Amino acid sequence: MAKKQTFVDKMTKVESHSEKIKCPACKQDTSVTYAKFVDSKISEKSGAWKFLERKVRLCGNCGAIVS
Ligand SMILES: [Zn+2]
Repeated sequence: MAKKQTFVDKMTKVESHSEKIKCPACKQDTSVTYAKFVDSKISEKSGAWKFLERKVRLCGNCGAIVS
């Protein structure tokens, strides 16, 4: 069966949380922003789409990725 799927390069969903951190990049006390990245890849073995989800935390002030 031929299954057509829309190519999705990167979807970013940003959620704001009230979690406070001290950002190592801008040295500010700020709230954390969560960004969800979904990477789509074609599996080399099966040729099927794979979706890899990962969550990163971003500084709400300067946007740097904090861990
Ligand atoms: Zn920052």
